[in-house]
Amino acid sequence: PEHIRNAVVLPRFARVNTLVTTMDQCLKDLAKNGYELIEYEDGMDLSKLKLTMVKDPHIPSLLVLPPNSDFHNHELLLKGHIILQDKASCFPAFILNPPKNATVIDGCAAPGNKTSQLSMIMNNTGTIHAFDKDSARLQTLIKLTGRSGCKNITPKRMSFLDVDPNDKMYAGVEYILLDPSCSGSGITRRLDHLLIQSDTATAEEEELDENGGIVSGEARIKALADFQVEVLMHAFKFKKVKKVAYSTCSKHREENEGVVERVLALQSDFKLVKNVFPEWKRRGVDGFEEVIRTLPEEDNCIGFFVALFERK
Ligand code: SAM
Repeated sequence: PEHIRNAVVLPRFARVNTLVTTMDQCLKDLAKNGYELIEYEDGMDLSKLKLTMVKDPHIPSLLVLPPNSDFHNHELLLKGHIILQDKASCFPAFILNPPKNATVIDGCAAPGNKTSQLSMIMNNTGTIHAFDKDSARLQTLIKLTGRSGCKNITPKRMSFLDVDPNDKMYAGVEYILLDPSCSGSGITRRLDHLLIQSDTATAEEEELDENGGIVSGEARIKALADFQVEVLMHAFKFKKVKKVAYSTCSKHREENEGVVERVLALQSDFKLVKNVFPEWKRRGVDGFEEVIRTLPEEDNCIGFFVALFERK
């Protein structure tokens, strides 16, 4: 299959969960497994690390480890001290950056990697309403955010599209993260799954593999893009919402800049945030400078897309 032929070996990313541990403690714990912390240097080939690790230069509390590091049954993972989450997948919550005590919606939340990241950013204050329409996946979210020590998450099994923006319960929502179903065409970390041959899927794999693999075909992409537009337009209906982060792990323009273009044309209350995450140089295609893309071959992470909207 094409996604295996095109596989790029990517480093292993571990996000340190400061709700239950500290960076220093985690580095000590990993040192016991033989991982030595080395200084990050510009241009370093992070897919070539060997029993060493670096602190990611962009995302605070993210560690970069060697590609074949297998943490599937590691104590640090089972105790919620680390969360295996690809670097690019950390971007949406990082740029949404809800302040302490905020009220937040995570519209397509399961298995909850970004939800627990939001919880950590907010230091367990405020409220995160986490929706997912799939009950098995929502159960995973409840389990994982529980072991991660998150106390500010209210999980609900329902379609985000059925959440009433006029319900008093959501009147205070100011921040929304939307990471809806997508084609998954940006995912390249397939080869090391085969190499590791583990049968216990991590939340990271579930996050990226909700459809059981990569979907393609023009009609499917079009249906996904229509759904993504619908989800974004729904988010814009919440009266107090200030910022909305939208992301996919797709490389198709239609699900990314195409969706952004469509929602900008369909309403006039929200615009793209200018100069978001300026340290990240890879921006959107076709002159979309305000949005962010990643390329597996060049950026040592999965192919990803993020846009941040704000109320005008
Ligand atoms: N944000 C998650 C994370 O970081 O762990 C990954 C989300 S995954 C890419 C997309 C999720 O959207 C799936 O769990 C799927 O069940 C959910 N979903 C699809 N349609 C939905 C809808 N209408 N309302 C809520 N969730 C939906």
